[in-house]
Amino acid sequence: NHGLPAGRVISVKGFKYMLITETGELETELSGKLLYATSPEDLPKVGDWVFFMKYDDAGYIIDVFPRVNVLSRKSAGNKTERQVLAVNIDFALIVQGLDRDFNLMRLERYLVQLAACGIAPIVILNKADLISDEEEYRLAIARLMRDCSVHFCSTYTGFGIDALNHQILEAHKTYILIGSSGVGKSSLLNALMNTNVQQTNSTSDWSSKGKHTTTRRDLFRLPNGSLMIDTPGMREFGLTGDEAHSTDDLFPAIQRFSSSCRFSDCTHMSEPGCAVTEAVASGNLDAQVYESYLKLIREQRRFTINAEDKK
Ligand code: GDP
Ligand code: ZN
Repeated sequence: NHGLPAGRVISVKGFKYMLITETGELETELSGKLLYATSPEDLPKVGDWVFFMKYDDAGYIIDVFPRVNVLSRKSAGNKTERQVLAVNIDFALIVQGLDRDFNLMRLERYLVQLAACGIAPIVILNKADLISDEEEYRLAIARLMRDCSVHFCSTYTGFGIDALNHQILEAHKTYILIGSSGVGKSSLLNALMNTNVQQTNSTSDWSSKGKHTTTRRDLFRLPNGSLMIDTPGMREFGLTGDEAHSTDDLFPAIQRFSSSCRFSDCTHMSEPGCAVTEAVASGNLDAQVYESYLKLIREQRRFTINAEDKK
């Protein structure tokens, strides 16, 4: 295409798109057909690969490469619209703290959403210094019957950080940090980058009020060459139902039993001969997993954003 140079979007601030390119970082704006994009989803997002042109010191984005995947949620304002949070992601790091942050249901919801977006999850349980027994957490997560690796670490003691850097995080991939505020995402990022650069201070500019403000960047380069996306939007990452997947598909634990329900269109709520509710009653299916499944169904019906995820 075009024979133009390619770059990758590392932050979006209003109409300004910061790119990393072969020759360094470059601030760009939209041009050409992108100025007339009909849907906000078509505009460049953090993680997008783009073609750009340079005139003097100014850069212009000409086109966006097709996306490998898209992490999105329903927008807060218009609930039929989807808001793209980031694109072209290899792995999502779901971070929870091993204190009151640990929440199996919330974890399940992240896993559901990532499955719907086609993004592989890695669960990171931080604040391992606060617990004495990893096993109960491993068992709790195993009950979700999902394919995800689980890693324990502590940014306080440094436990597990080397393993993350040298074994778990692959080189030349794109990662995204997910998790409620307070679980230790910033601390983890700093530990992985082996710096103490507060992410909020990495670039600075002057706001219109003449006050000195700091703009945070959304993408970081890890020592092994991988990229870590940490966007503010992820901090209130809420659940969305994905229309392309039936809900049962997203809950392997439910699916294991639902094939034995008497009715093929069983909603697993109150039908006779429902193998799912029977499994809950007999203890073969975790009640919390069933509860989060029901919650997802209710949400899909109501088309609402989950506000509970915010503390
Ligand atoms: P973020 O909001 O997810 O970016 O979380 P922060 O990195 O700002 O950390 C939130 C709080 O958790 C801070 O008070 C940290 O000092 C604390 N914290 C971070 N990592 C650890 C850890 O490994 N152990 C303990 N006990 N506290 C931690
Ligand atoms: Zn059923």
